[in-house]
Order: sequence, then structure tokens, then C-alpha cells
Amino acid sequence: MKRVYNFSAGPAMLPEEVLKQAAEEMLDYRGSGMSVMEMSHRSKVYESILEKAKADLRKLLNMPEDYEILFLQGGAHTQFAMIPLNLMKNQEADYIVTGQWAKRAAAEAKKYGKVNIVADSSDKTFSYIPDCTDLPISERADYVYICENNTIYGTKFHSLPNTKGKILVSDVSSCFLSEPMDVTRYGIIYGGVQKNIGPAGVTLVIIRKDLIPEKVADFVPTMLQYKIHAENNSLYNTPPAYGIYICGLVFEWILRQGGLTEMQRRNQDKARLLYDFLDQSKLFYGTVRKEDRSLMNVPFVTGDPELDALFIKEATAFGLLNLKGHRSVGGMRASIYNAMPLAGVEELVRFMTDFERKYAK
Ligand SMILES: *Cc1c(COP(=O)(O)O)cnc(C)c1O
Repeated sequence: MKRVYNFSAGPAMLPEEVLKQAAEEMLDYRGSGMSVMEMSHRSKVYESILEKAKADLRKLLNMPEDYEILFLQGGAHTQFAMIPLNLMKNQEADYIVTGQWAKRAAAEAKKYGKVNIVADSSDKTFSYIPDCTDLPISERADYVYICENNTIYGTKFHSLPNTKGKILVSDVSSCFLSEPMDVTRYGIIYGGVQKNIGPAGVTLVIIRKDLIPEKVADFVPTMLQYKIHAENNSLYNTPPAYGIYICGLVFEWILRQGGLTEMQRRNQDKARLLYDFLDQSKLFYGTVRKEDRSLMNVPFVTGDPELDALFIKEATAFGLLNLKGHRSVGGMRASIYNAMPLAGVEELVRFMTDFERKYAK
């Protein structure tokens, strides 16, 4: 068996320890005589998996009781609709557009109300985070929306926008649990888990309980009502039970490593190694404004698309996989989530050093 270093933006690497544990428990989950995949989601044994996952996530984030944890389906994309459908009371919201995902979320929200784009970094291909200290926040806005880590462009909000008292909604798909965060500063924190936490098919939503509306418009599908999922402990219908179980194993793994402070330390070490290399390289350079760089997604280029393609080809042959940049930006992108070991980034930097030696003019 040979495991590769997988730099994919998502689905992405999972901790090897977690995969091994899942393999060991595959045929007989802790004496139940069956796989978690085969279990009733209403069984006692599954209930314990779900409750443990929720308790561990609460512990990891030091999350107060007035926040609800929901395990949903439909990916981040479904939240693009669910958020306005549940939160828009004035039929108006403010969006900060820092990339494709925020743009898509804004376009979806527009179906249900007035969307104000209060900041936008498309003028420089989303390579920076705009100044959000004094935005024209709308009087009637029901919430302010951000995509906290921009997976495609490799930017991150290192400080949260000043929402002038409005509720903050954040898509954390590609940075969730990569570092400590203060949950109380948000109304909703959500993300698809397939980037940094688990397998595709689970969407995590953390919502302040008082924001879950008693009543929504009559046309809102039952499955798109936060209230339904909150009242039923994410068991209104059959949940993605196996995926939730894996998320739970990952939460336990993070706790064993030392929690989010330790994740942050490791992620900073990995990112520093790669960015320091890029900053001194004569061939490669990073595409993002330095102060806005993401710890999770690191886009870089040589400036020559043919050389970029050659780099990706040679890296793949070497066992460094999925380094191709998003189709909308080209170049390369290394996604170095929690489960990417430091050794993987060291290997990448060694490989880039050799490549540079061979091809730099
Ligand atoms: C991947 C990604 C999405 C899209 O997620 P799906 O689960 O495929 O809907 C949305 N937002 C961010 C920040 C992402 O990285």
C-alpha cells in the first residue's frame, strides 16, 4: 500500500489514524455486529455516535449552549438558499463578494430578496480581502454574509468585518476547525465537511438558537427549514449517518492532537514553509496579497502556463497529487488542510526546489 500526498481542495485528505480506525470498525462497530453504514439512524448505538460527535464539536469550539449544531445534506450550495429562506425577514441582506462561492451565494439569495453587494474584490481577480471596517451596511439587512476562506483564490478574512450590529453569516467550508474561532461573533457558521473534516455528503451548520425562525414563508420546503432539523436533532429524515460517524472520529482525532490551538500551530508551520519558499523563489510566486493569505489553500504560478502544466505533470508522477489550480484561475494550488502532514509540504517544497533548479532561466 502506498498513500500519496493529496493536495486536492476537496474532497481532501483525512487523517490516516481515522481511516484505520474506520477500517477496523467497518464490519463490527464496537460489538454491534454491524457496520455504521448498516445501522438504523434511530438505534441507541447510532444515537451515541451522533451525541458524541456533537459534544466533541462543542468542546473543540468551546461553543455555548445557545448555539445549535445541525448535520445536514445538500452541501454548502443548499445553504446558499437555506440561509436567505430562513433569515430574510426584511427580504434584504448584505453580501461581501470575495470569490466564486460568495458570488454564487449572493446570486442564490437574490431569488428570495434584495441583495446588496457591500464589498467586492473581483477587480483584482479576488486576490485580496477588501477593507471591511466601515462598510455601507444596509439599515434593513437581515444579515451580512461572508465566505471566510476563499478556497479557489487562497484568501482568508484574518479579521471579521464590522457588521455594525447585524448578524454575521459565514461559509467556513475550507477553514473550519483549522484554528480556534469565537463562535459568539457569528449568527451562522456553516460548511460542507469534505474540505477539512470528513467525507462529502455532510454539511455542518452552527446556528444561534434565537435565529431559528418559528415561521417561514409557506413555500419553503420542509427540508429547508432549520426549525425542522433543530427540533428533530438532525434526524428528521435519514441523515448521512456514516459521514457523520467519520466527522465524529475526526473531532476525536483533533482533540487527541491538542485541539484547535494545536491545529493552528501545525497549519501555520506548514503554510509558512510553503509561503517562505514562494517568496524567495526565482520561478514560482504566490498570487495573493500577503496579509490576506490563507493557511489552507495556497495558489501559485510560474507565469508560464506551459511550465505550470509541466510542473503538475511531473509532480503527479512523483506522488504529489491534485496540484492543479481551479479551472477558473489556472496555475497551481496546494490545499494543506488539517490532515496534510508537515512531511507532505516538505516533500512539495523539495520537489519545487528541484524543479526550479531544472527550469528556472
Ligand atoms: C467547496 C466549497 C463550496 C461548495 O461546496 P459544496 O459542498 O460542493 O456545495 C462552497 N463554499 C466554499 C468556501 C467551498 O470551499
